[in-house]
Amino acid sequence: MNRICFFDTKQYDKTYFELLKEQYNIEIEYFEPKLGPKTAFMAKGYEAVVAFVNDSIGEETINILYENGTKLIAMRCAGYNNVDFKAAFQKIHVVRVPAYSPYAVAEHAMALLLTLNRKIHRAYTRTRDFNFSLNGLTGFDLHGKTMGVIGTGKIGRIFIDICRGFGLNVIAYDPYPIKDSDIRYVTLEELCKESDIISLHCPLTKDTFHLINQDTIAMMKKGVYLINTSRGALINSEDLLEALKAEKIGGACLDVYEEETELFYEDMSYTIIHDDVLSRIISMPNVIVTSHQAFLTKEALHNIAETTLSNCRDYFDDKVLQNEVCYQCSKGEACPRDKNKKCF
Ligand code: NAD
Repeated sequence: MNRICFFDTKQYDKTYFELLKEQYNIEIEYFEPKLGPKTAFMAKGYEAVVAFVNDSIGEETINILYENGTKLIAMRCAGYNNVDFKAAFQKIHVVRVPAYSPYAVAEHAMALLLTLNRKIHRAYTRTRDFNFSLNGLTGFDLHGKTMGVIGTGKIGRIFIDICRGFGLNVIAYDPYPIKDSDIRYVTLEELCKESDIISLHCPLTKDTFHLINQDTIAMMKKGVYLINTSRGALINSEDLLEALKAEKIGGACLDVYEEETELFYEDMSYTIIHDDVLSRIISMPNVIVTSHQAFLTKEALHNIAETTLSNCRDYFDDKVLQNEVCYQCSKGEACPRDKNKKCF
């Protein structure tokens, strides 16, 4: 039996990994702390380490893991912007779960929009207090409005299908558009100008960092709704706050936040929050924040556990690492994986 260790463990992760571990002949040591420079030493003696979206896997962490014998970082998520690939290259292989349930994320994006627009969150608390007033609960019909989708990959495409079911006119921006699709692609500028609602479904890269900023916001319609279920740093939060205060942005649905690492997934209800931007954003009546939970369905948790354990099994059995991502792959350079089973 091979042993792996697991950082940033939550009970819901453990439930699904425990169900499948014997099938993959893997023993798991669960650690509660996030992986980072201060905790990386805990992985000593484990060849494979399982990590998640808010772990800090920069050069320092990678070097500590490497010196202590780690050869594989298995990300139990799709995004991998928190891993320093350059530092990991030639030292530690990095695998991920490329898709576990794009439906989970796309459905959550729509759930946030419907909640915000029809003020369900406010109605829920009102009626529990026997307050049956409708004042302040007016929404708008989604039917006939224009939805701008940024990123038409797995999640973006499903979100587009859901939007079409509501009678929204969908336009999209993606530098790599799907060929021969029925999606109406426009430039980013056109998308900003024409959309009543904008939803982000692109990865966080150096090109998409702060894609939504004061310049792109300036191009948008007054009162536009913004949905972000991708990565927090796609939006410049300070610019978002200013635009909310100026009522240029009419509402925001945020499942992610650029400074979420120390906050999200934890109960901070007894803590003084020092992030004034987040505190102010959360205080707005036209903002809904969820704590990076768009992925959280039974199906997604099962698929995450299955693919992560399968990735680890492939590594231990010296099989092709199908889901490996590395520095040279990310630059689009030729990769020897097909011949050598691994990226290096
Ligand atoms: P994907 O790789 O299938 O699609 C991403 C799309 O973005 C691709 O079509 C790509 O061409 C496009 N893109 C790349 N650069 C772009 C740019 N500069 N502008 C616009 N589009 C660009 O990824 P996916 O599975 O659809 O996931 C999308 C993102 O959702 C992930 O990167 C991840 O950050 C996020 N995500 C969030 C959660 C959550 O729980 N909130 C869960 C899973 C994924």
